[in-house]
Amino acid sequence: HSHDHKPKAKRWDHHVSHEALIRKGNSLKQAAKYLGKPGLISLGGGLPSSEYFPFAELNLKVPTVGHFSESETKESGITITAGKHDLAQDKSIFDIATAFNYGQGSGSAQLLRWITEHTELVHNPPYSDWRCTMSIGSTSALDMALRMFTRPGDLILSEEYTFATAVETAAPMGLRVTGISMDEQGLLPDSMDHILATWDVKARGARKPHLLYTVPTGQNPTGATQSADRRREIYRVCQKHDLYILEDDPYYFLQMQPYTGPNSPDILPPSSHSEFLKSLVPSLLSIDVDGRVMRMDSFSKVLSPGSRIGWVTASEQIVHMYQMHADVSTQGPAGMAQLILWKLLDEHWGHVAYLDWLIHIRMEYTRRRDVIMQACEKYLPKEVVSWKPPMAGMFHWLRIEFRQHPDYPSKSIETIEEEIFMRVIEHGALVMRGSWFYANNEEEHDTLFFRATYAAAPAEKIEEGIRRLGEAVRAEFGLKG
Ligand code: PMP
Ligand code: PLP
Repeated sequence: HSHDHKPKAKRWDHHVSHEALIRKGNSLKQAAKYLGKPGLISLGGGLPSSEYFPFAELNLKVPTVGHFSESETKESGITITAGKHDLAQDKSIFDIATAFNYGQGSGSAQLLRWITEHTELVHNPPYSDWRCTMSIGSTSALDMALRMFTRPGDLILSEEYTFATAVETAAPMGLRVTGISMDEQGLLPDSMDHILATWDVKARGARKPHLLYTVPTGQNPTGATQSADRRREIYRVCQKHDLYILEDDPYYFLQMQPYTGPNSPDILPPSSHSEFLKSLVPSLLSIDVDGRVMRMDSFSKVLSPGSRIGWVTASEQIVHMYQMHADVSTQGPAGMAQLILWKLLDEHWGHVAYLDWLIHIRMEYTRRRDVIMQACEKYLPKEVVSWKPPMAGMFHWLRIEFRQHPDYPSKSIETIEEEIFMRVIEHGALVMRGSWFYANNEEEHDTLFFRATYAAAPAEKIEEGIRRLGEAVRAEFGLKG
């Protein structure tokens, strides 16, 4: 086995919660291991007979390789079929009768195998006992991970602006988040080191943090992407202070072509799969020699959010705990969704064609990003709005010089933010308020941002939306347009 020369992961008993340590797993599910015995007649598990599933066949029209657009799929797409008893009839290794019944918390063996191979191809974790297990998307994975790694009263670390859902998941568990200062490459390792090195339990009212939640690529909301060097520095600080890392990376494959500026020639797409993979910033998982990262991947941004399928990758100890929790909670993702993804990813495309799809997505997002960059260049007043072109993800982060607002300082940052927000809506556009993404709204903030996405609207609407934003900001700051 190719992992054999790699070291084993460290153990995390000292960081996991009491709940996770004492959970024994689902005894009914564990009986499934005997089903492999030839000739065994199961009067055991309360699985309904597939006879009573009112579904005989599933047909899906999907793109053929290299013809990925909606219109091409309509014309040249092919229909793939899942039958009810394909397994018994030796037509396939996955079918309706199996997928639509109860399964294990890890998800089906069929799709899990594909996911594990994909993870090895892309991240190849540098320790031997890594495992994958399916999640119901990263929203659920984070919820479960926080229950596994924290207790009420803990403070966890994250970027100072972060995914609002993460904070909202943590707060009712009695957790607080401390924000780490950031630049366009995400959180600053020295700042994190300083927070940890000078931690004062009494003043902070919490034990020293042992958990970092980070979104390393195309961060939500800032669009920041940690460079490879930045990731290595962050990892080193986590080793120094024995932090466990929750790597939430749904935008990994929304890494785009380099931004070349308005009206300059495009950069050619990656010419091979290996060039494509090399162009991606290495994940924290891929540099994780200690097994201190739980990486959360998701199909939401690259196939479909409604699939509700993602996966976590971590050491065997941690994945086993996660799986035991899943067995008594979410169970695996819906079998219906698993069958659909498996048919597409394994039986129809395979790993190589999936990389072609990911390159397609990369080029599509690059085009959208370039549209919003050009619109910003054209319509936004640079005296008060500034930005860095995002390298990944779906978010564009716009900095507003609130000190130039006519009512500053008699009005607070928050009031000015609110007024701009309402004014933008009056002008017929919607952007998100930066303050909605504070890791901790009790900490001091002296920046004002808005988040705009280029993921959803068609090109001409993106341009018009940014024009309206520019108009609203000019009106708000009393600038000539
Ligand atoms: N509650 C009871 C009493 C059950 O018997 C079962 C199924 N064995 C469940 C809950 C699980 O239901 P579901 O498949 O909807 O999670
Ligand atoms: N994590 C981050 C940082 C996100 O931005 C999002 C989507 O908005 C999610 C997780 C949700 O992912 P999923 O659909 O896999 O639950």
